[in-house]
Amino acid sequence: MLWGKRVYRKKLGHVGDFCAICRKITANKVEKRTLRRAVLGIPVSAPLRITHDKTCCDCGTQTGCYPSYYQEYLRRLPKHISVEALSARTFPDIYQRYDGRLQLEQHVYINPKTIGTSQRYELLQEPFDLLSSEVDQKMAQGCVDWQVILTFILLLAAPVGSFYLGVIFAWPVQWCVYTLMASVLILGIVALNQISLAKSRWVRRRIFPRLSRAVRPLLPTDKELEIVFDKYTRQRKRIAHRRDKKALLNMVHKTPITTATTMAS
Ligand SMILES: [Zn+2]
Repeated sequence: MLWGKRVYRKKLGHVGDFCAICRKITANKVEKRTLRRAVLGIPVSAPLRITHDKTCCDCGTQTGCYPSYYQEYLRRLPKHISVEALSARTFPDIYQRYDGRLQLEQHVYINPKTIGTSQRYELLQEPFDLLSSEVDQKMAQGCVDWQVILTFILLLAAPVGSFYLGVIFAWPVQWCVYTLMASVLILGIVALNQISLAKSRWVRRRIFPRLSRAVRPLLPTDKELEIVFDKYTRQRKRIAHRRDKKALLNMVHKTPITTATTMAS
């Protein structure tokens, strides 16, 4: 890019913070992003926008964060450091800051069915909201997996294949042309379908395991999950494509409950 706006990233280090996908306090990597005008990659303006993101070291989910919460960043995460020790150094008042949320998580862990209906739906929707931007970002970049690549290789090989079939079976030229047109048409339709399916495969592989992990402790019923899923489907969010609903429901019920609330000692 010769000139325009560019995001400059700076890794700040590790902190303890709450992850709503893991539903507990975890180690996180914090990154500062500064938007500036740039010419030939060289910044030429004051920061236009500064944001901070944290990436959970357990689940890999990236969300916004508040740098004012942190006392310091650990450039390198010491081996075997507990999340409690990390939080004590980097986010000393984490238990006060998240007191209400951690008590709620304790409630979820002990008896999720006694949580009020509206709060249950808020908790069920939270991971959809958090992961939706990651899905949208990926969809904008495009999803290409081996099935898509294979289909395009076959599409490119169609002219050669038609020619060889014509030679082997001594077909008239028209037959070769018809075979070529039919194979390109069929493979073109298959390719378009595969591009669409690749998005679903990526969402099921990369997003649904985290989504399931986040909602599973709530012991949601199929009905509750369907209500939340359908809401995002109506909003045309790619995280909730109609075709993927059954896959998510199945995955949620098969996901073990592995999270446990971290409470102040
Ligand atoms: Zn996490």
